[in-house]
Amino acid sequence: MTIFASRRGLLKLGGAASLGLVANPAVAAPSTERKLGYAIVGLGQYADVILPRFAECRYSRVTALVSGSMEKARRYAARYDVAEAGLYTYDTFDTIRDNPDVDIVYVILPNGMHHEYTLRAAAAGKHVMCEKPMANTAAEAQAMIAACRAADRKLMIGYRCHFEANNREAMRIVREGELGKARIVTAEHGFNIGDPTQWRLNRALAGGGSLMDIGIYSLQAARYLTGEEPVEVSAVESTDRSDIRFKEVEDTINFQLKFASGVVANCVSTYGSGHNRYRVVGTEGWLDAEAATGYGGNRLRLRRNGQTADHPAPDLPVNQFSGMLDHLSQCVMTDSQPIVAGEEGLRDMKIIEAIYLAAREGRTVRL
Ligand code: NDP
Repeated sequence: MTIFASRRGLLKLGGAASLGLVANPAVAAPSTERKLGYAIVGLGQYADVILPRFAECRYSRVTALVSGSMEKARRYAARYDVAEAGLYTYDTFDTIRDNPDVDIVYVILPNGMHHEYTLRAAAAGKHVMCEKPMANTAAEAQAMIAACRAADRKLMIGYRCHFEANNREAMRIVREGELGKARIVTAEHGFNIGDPTQWRLNRALAGGGSLMDIGIYSLQAARYLTGEEPVEVSAVESTDRSDIRFKEVEDTINFQLKFASGVVANCVSTYGSGHNRYRVVGTEGWLDAEAATGYGGNRLRLRRNGQTADHPAPDLPVNQFSGMLDHLSQCVMTDSQPIVAGEEGLRDMKIIEAIYLAAREGRTVRL
């Protein structure tokens, strides 16, 4: 049994799958107001989402930028007030070990580069925040955990939804039994992918198709909403290989997860149409979220006691991005385990591999 503090006092939840219902309160407040320094590796679209959020952080700041282009790094440095000494290319990255202003390396590179840069960051003596999916394979994920452990550094995966108000409230509602016994989860994530030349459609850089990139949100939701681990998976893939975008990776791969308690999750993962939703139906009611896992504007509706109503989640002190960044800083300062550590990323990678196997062989795979 794991014990978590919640808004309602102390809560007991069972199983290794318990993800920590209350993020920051689960970690003691650091005794100092020091801000740890982050190095952002890869200045792409998602780095553009993350970088402005340091302004709202209490324990985190940006002290270094790593990019393939020094000109680009300098442009970002001017915007986010990073010193010239904190600018690196991929070739000079390893010298970051000599920079005492960098405590944490945040890997926001294409998936296929997560493994290499996590290992290099750990070798440089830095803690690591690594974007999802953790790596291209479970074996790589395992090596990343081992490298960070050997270097005595923290490793956290950028699973921001664990720090987002609606998602946390949805977890609480389901896990506290407010819908009765959870029976069926439906989780849908997808978008219509564009540019056929982008790295997301390149197997070496992406590791796979929609499942690695967006379907992973359906998998995560099924796991964090129920607080359980799947014991069986089955899957169906549908990819038009004559479509120039899908020469190397899959388009749609829908999968079903069966959990030990009997809950079943039906999950959508696609690069063909827009989906951002989940629904949990229990014996006493249901919960429906759409948008479910967006950067903002998420909405929750509940049906309980015969009534259906919008359910605005109680506010959290900070947005999901700043909460996530500060969580790792707090874990470093208090020597605590992040609620979404490398092991959590590895669990997803193992299930993802089982989903691919199930689709390829047309059979149910036991986990
Ligand atoms: P982008 O393509 O927008 O950015 C990736 C950056 O990586 C590039 O801008 C580039 O930065 C650097 N890079 C280095 N080598 C390569 C290469 N061979 N090909 C392409 N880029 C390269 O991707 P995203 O920012 O959208 O995604 C990055 C990671 O973040 C992925 O793992 C993705 O899954 C994750 N992500 C997570 C989200 C979340 O909500 N948690 C949302 C979006 C993405 P530079 O020019 O500075 O070298």
